[in-house]
Formats: sequence, C-alpha cells, structure tokens
Amino acid sequence: GPRADDDLLAGLNPPQREAVTYRGQALLIVAGAGSGKTSVLTRRIASLLRNREAWPSQILAITFTNKAAGEMRERVEHLIGDSARGMWISTFHSACVRILRREAEQFGFTKSFTIYDSGDSRALIKRLVKEHEADAFGLTPAATQSKISKLKNELSDAESYARSANMADPAERVFIELFGAYQRELQRANAFDFDDLIAQTVFLFRAFPKVADVYRRRFRHILVDEYQDTNHAQYALIHELTRPIGSGAEPQSMGGMMIFEPDPADDPDRAGASLTVVGDSDQSIYAFRGADIRNISEFERDYPGAKVVLLEQNYRSTQNILSAANAVISNNFDRKDKKLWTDVGAGEQIVGFTGYSQHDEAQFVADEIETLHRGGVDYSQIAVFYRTNSQSRALEEIFIRSALPYKIMGGTKFYERAEIKDALAYLVAVANPADEMALRRIINKPRRGIGDVTVEAISRYAQDEGITFRDALANSSALGVGPKIQSAIAHLDAVLAEASELMLPASGELAPPTAVAEGVQLLLNKSGYYDALRASKDAQDEARIENLDELVAVAREFARNNPDGTLLDFLTEVALVSDADDLEDASGSVSLMTMHTAKGLEYDAVFVTGVEEDLIPHRISAGEPGGPQEERRLFYVGITRARKRLYLSLAMTRAQFGEVTVAMPSRFLQEIPSELLTWRQSPGDVNSRGGTQSRALNARRGAGFGGSGGGGTRYGDDLVPLARREPSGNLERFANKIPAKVRDNGDMQLAPGDRIRHDDFGEGRVDAVTGEGAKRVAHVRFDSAGPKKLLIKIAPIEKL
Ligand code: ATP
Ligand code: MG
Repeated sequence: GPRADDDLLAGLNPPQREAVTYRGQALLIVAGAGSGKTSVLTRRIASLLRNREAWPSQILAITFTNKAAGEMRERVEHLIGDSARGMWISTFHSACVRILRREAEQFGFTKSFTIYDSGDSRALIKRLVKEHEADAFGLTPAATQSKISKLKNELSDAESYARSANMADPAERVFIELFGAYQRELQRANAFDFDDLIAQTVFLFRAFPKVADVYRRRFRHILVDEYQDTNHAQYALIHELTRPIGSGAEPQSMGGMMIFEPDPADDPDRAGASLTVVGDSDQSIYAFRGADIRNISEFERDYPGAKVVLLEQNYRSTQNILSAANAVISNNFDRKDKKLWTDVGAGEQIVGFTGYSQHDEAQFVADEIETLHRGGVDYSQIAVFYRTNSQSRALEEIFIRSALPYKIMGGTKFYERAEIKDALAYLVAVANPADEMALRRIINKPRRGIGDVTVEAISRYAQDEGITFRDALANSSALGVGPKIQSAIAHLDAVLAEASELMLPASGELAPPTAVAEGVQLLLNKSGYYDALRASKDAQDEARIENLDELVAVAREFARNNPDGTLLDFLTEVALVSDADDLEDASGSVSLMTMHTAKGLEYDAVFVTGVEEDLIPHRISAGEPGGPQEERRLFYVGITRARKRLYLSLAMTRAQFGEVTVAMPSRFLQEIPSELLTWRQSPGDVNSRGGTQSRALNARRGAGFGGSGGGGTRYGDDLVPLARREPSGNLERFANKIPAKVRDNGDMQLAPGDRIRHDDFGEGRVDAVTGEGAKRVAHVRFDSAGPKKLLIKIAPIEKL
C-alpha cells in the first residue's frame, strides 16, 4: 500500500531509497562526493518523523558545521511541512555543550562554564609553560598545546598518559606536570577547552551511567554526517550513546568515589539507539586534527550486523569534472576503488590558467567571474578556493578594485580580534565569575593603572581566602593597594555588578531578549572602553569601534532569533562559530574560502587557485606520513564542489612571507587526463614561446620554467597592498579603512561620459555610476581592456 513517506522517496535511486527506509540498528552509507549522502540523511530523518516512528526529540543528528546543521533542520522542516522543534541537529561540539550545561554540576563545574577557544587555551598554556620553566625542556606553548589536544582526542588524561610515558625522560615528566596543571586551571576557572567538550562528555557518561542513560533513553535515532572526519573521542561518544539502556550501569569510580548502583527498573535488554553514519573515506581531510578513517573502515566490526549501502550515482557534477576527480583520487593507494558516474553528460571542459604572478592569477579569476556573471551565473553560485588563508589577500585586492562583491567564509577571524575578545571577556566575567583569565584580560582595559603587581596581589588574596578572583575584586579595601588603584578596582566591580543585574536576572525571571546587546553596550560604555578608543588618534581604533558595533549587531540578531536566549546561550553560540559559519549573508556575493572549509558545499562554478607544488600538496605535508595522500583528498574535495564549471589556476611566481618564489605546477594537475582540460594560458605560454600542456609538465620537471623575463607583468604586480585582510570582506567597511597613504579618491565626482585613466587598464569612458558614498562604483568601458567596474574611492584612476 502507499506509504506516508512516498513523496519523500520520489526521485531517489534504489540504493538511496534503501538508505532512507532501512530500519535496522546500524546503517553505514559509504559513497563518493555528491552522491546524495547528506540528502539521504535528511530524508531519513523526515521519513522517521512523517511515519511517526520517532518524535523530534528522539533524534540526534550530527553535522560538521553549525551552518550545515541549520540547513539540515530547514530541509527537514520543509520536507515534513511542520516544525521539528526538539530535534537536536548540531555539531558534536554544540551537542556536548548542551549536555554539559545540564550536567556540569555532577562533576565540579557549574552550568555557566566558559568555553576556551584555542587562543584562550594557548594563553593559559603559555603562562603555565613560563611558570614551570618548561621551555628549557623544549616544550613550547604551541607544541604543548597540540600534544595535549591530541591526547584529549584520544581520551587520554595526564594520569593515563603518565602510565604509558617514559618517565625517565625529564621532558616527559615536565609535560605531564603541565598537562595536569592545565587541567586543574581549567577546572578552577570553571572552563572547558574545545577538546574537553567532547572528551569530558564521554568521561561523564562513563562515570555516571545514570546520566548516560538519560540520553540513551532520549535519543532513539542517531545520525552522523561526514563520519570519515570523526576522531576517537567523537567515536567513543557515539558508542556510549548507542549502548543499550542500563548497560553501563555497573558502578564505576571517578576520582576514587563509587557512584550509583544499577537501577533494577531499567531493562538492560532494551536495544540501543539506531545509528546511521554517512561518509566518504576519500574526503577525510582532518587527520591532522586526529580524525581517524578507521572509524569508517571498522564500522562493520564495531556494529555487527550493520547494513552497508553504497551510492555511486553522482547528482552534482558534470562527467568531465567527475572524471578529473576520479583520475586524481585513484592515485591514492590503499583505498577501495569506487567509480562515480553521472547521467548529465560531459559538460564544459575544465579550464586551466597560469598567471605570471598571484595578482595576474587573481585578475584572471576576477575577469572570468565577470564573464560568468554577464552570462547569467549568480555571484552566490561562484566560489574561489585556496589552500591557505594568506592566499586570499591577492584575490581580495583585485576583487575590491573590480568592485566584485565577495565574502570570505571563515567567521572565526572576527572573533579572534583583540577588541572582540575584550568585549567577550567582559561578558564572560559577568557570566562566570570563576574565570580568572577573562578578568585578567579586562582588568586593565582600558588602562586604569592596575598593573601586574596588583593583579598578582588580587590573585593571591583570592587563593588565600578561597574565593573567586571576582569576589576578591569586590573586596578591594582588603587588598592593601593604594587609594587610586582601589577606587579603579571598585569602579570595575560596580560596572560588572550592574551588567550582571541586567543580564542575569534572579532565578525564575527571564532577561529581556535585548539584554545581551544592551549589556555589551553598558560594559563598553561604563568601563570607559569605548571612550578610550574614541580618544585615540590611531586610525585602527576607529575600525575597532566599528567591529564592536558589529558585535552589538550580532547580539541583536541573536535576540531576534532566540527570544528566550540567555547570556550563556549567546556566549556558547559565539564560542562555537567555526570556519564555515559566516557572520553575514553570502547571497549576492562570490564566496572565498579554504578547501577545508568547502567540505559538503556545492557551487555552479568553482575556481581552485594556487594549484602549485608546496601549496597543494602543501609544503608542511610533504614530510608527514600520509601527508601527500591527505592533500590529494583535499584537492579531491575542492574539485568535487563544482557543478558545471571548474577552473584550475596557478601562478609562476608567488610572493609569500615577504619573498618571491618560483612556483611549480602541482603534481595533481598531471594526474588529470589532458583531454579534460583546456589551457587558457599554460605554463608553457607564459614563457612566451607558445606551448601546450605537456610543456607545463616539462616545466614541472624543471625544464625551462624560470624564464619569466619575456612575459613581464600584465597587471598588478606593483599594486600597493590596499588594505589589511578583513574578516567580513565587506566592501563598505573595507573601503572606509583604506590607509590614508594609499589611493583615496575621496569625493571624486564622476558622471557618465567622463573620460578617465586607470593605472593598469589605460584610458576609458564612464558609462554609468551606481551606489553611494564609499560604495560608489563606476562602470567604465576601457579602450583596450573592455568593460570594468571600479570602486571609485580607491581605484587607481584619474579624471581626464
Ligand atoms: P558530499 O560528499 O560533497 O558531502 P553528498 O554525498 O552529501 O556530497 P549531497 O550534497 O547530498 O551529496 O547531494 C549532492 C547534490 O545532488 C545535491 O544538490 C542534491 O540535491 C542532489 N541529489 C542527491 N540525490 C539526488 C537525486 N536522487 N536526484 C536528484 N538530485 C539529487
Ligand atoms: Mg554531504
């Protein structure tokens, strides 16, 4: 008979249908890029809900980014035509924060704990390294941090690591001391670092089977996207959640204390949650962060009786793009060969381009984007990828000059700015009075005359009295400091107290939704932070004020989206913004991002730039075991994002770290069958001797790739760097921040018909002027370079 979910199955191929309708305990969907893994997961959730096999609250779906989570939620709601409130669709980190906020009190934290991002934990580790004089043992903060992180991802703590470590090695002993001290400091500050969020949740479940059972009882269906990039701690978390209820109830010890007897009311035979994971081992690109491909390959061993579904039809890309992707990835040994196919036809040739420099390459990308745009491709359907963040600068410079709307995906950068961290530290100081680091950060910002000596005095007082750093502030008269300092401390304490009253109402009461936004403003105003920036003559401080205004705007937006959202909810959301979660709406703009960030996304047209040795594969991967293979998977991820058009570009020379180096075409280019690729300008051409693709390959073997002299620079090599890299890529904000010594045309009045001269493009005629203020754009038809759009304020132009 007809199923309630028939419409959900419409258009799916047979294995996809099976993946949606299979109802066993464990299901593994393995498939290449663009074969519908994420779509199938979404439909599976919709089908469970539609058939009333599950309540929304019984579903836990894990995605790789917050953004992907939001999209999946929207699609499910769209499919079932109803709200799916109560469903948990989130990243591992967000899900764990929710659990920890509820359960933190079980093990010595409070629910207002702070989340330390990697910058915060680096700062703490730095302090400890110094205190333990650990650099004498070769333990730099960076090395210590990454080792601790790696161990936490393997669910190791200082004690368990000590059992297996070589204690004869003094460096190991010091490291273990540091690891332990770091953990104690986190606990004292009521804080978890990123890795803790997962690891501590696993420890919590293992130590408190009763607590684990609450979640085992709740989540009957667990689904995980991008399973190839889970690390051991994440694997263990899923394993804990899918165990039968009551199964973990044998008493366990935590910190020497025995807890909980099994509850006879629990039915130990009640099966665990059903688990569905989807993944593609060819897209595993986070091994450097502890991701373990074996989580996929050993799934059938870990979940006996698991059903495995393979998807092979690709619905995203043209055959040319797929053939290139298949050809590249087949060079990785030790993989199961799977061939993706499509029935949409060959499509366009892949386009190759070699620039003289990265500016030349960027100009090609910008010109080509304009051509696509004129041909009807929306900017939002175009993406530009690179291997490292620093490569975006050359692209941005050209894009700004061409008035091409773009958006950098990589939201974290905004939250890494000093002024934003300061503002957030103020909020954290309100939310979590135990967080000494947050208070230390703001205690003398703006300058209040509170120096290190006073800070140490406060810290010592707090420790001696067994009170928090914050409580010590409130007791400034007992600190034995001078009257001026004492009144500065008292003032700060009063400001924090006022903000607490606004943002943390008495229990039972709800703060108004705008409380966080108002609280930020109150803190910045009354602390004197804003005034100090306003009084400054440094042009950067003006930009800082704008960024803080942006933070207030983020808080307002948060209030609109979460009418019941609390200060803690806001801080959680901000702490968990990941690289792929952007602050702004990207509609109407070209998206720029690293290939890592591109995972799971798709665009009509994709530009993979910097396809050079030392970039992709990246230099640092060369010496790492498995490094080049992981880089090949990353390149595979990049090219399989493209639906219709794929561009691969590189430069002959690249300025990096203040040095100009000669670049070689990436080995991955050689792996693409030449009949799939059309070179607009090949590495051979740029030697101005004419050339073919084979020349490119000769070049990579070292034959005649250095002779750039003949060609010279077409555009841009002499461009003045226009502006610092901006996190938002927002045109207007960017244009307002151009340093004065760089071209600033100010109020240059241009009208249709005017003739101008451009440093690069020569003479041309203005066709039209659009936009306002700093965003005014001239549409110019250049006599030889053709039509271009220029941002009037900063374009290197003069009126004739
Ligand atoms: P990735 O490996 O990159 O994460 P994926 O396997 O998750 O890819 P999806 O993103 O789910 O693939 O799907 C790729 C594209 O194919 C999407 O645009 C999706 O809407 C489309 N698609 C998936 N299945 C079908 C189908 N049966 N019919 C038509 N389009 C489909
Ligand atoms: Mg996907």
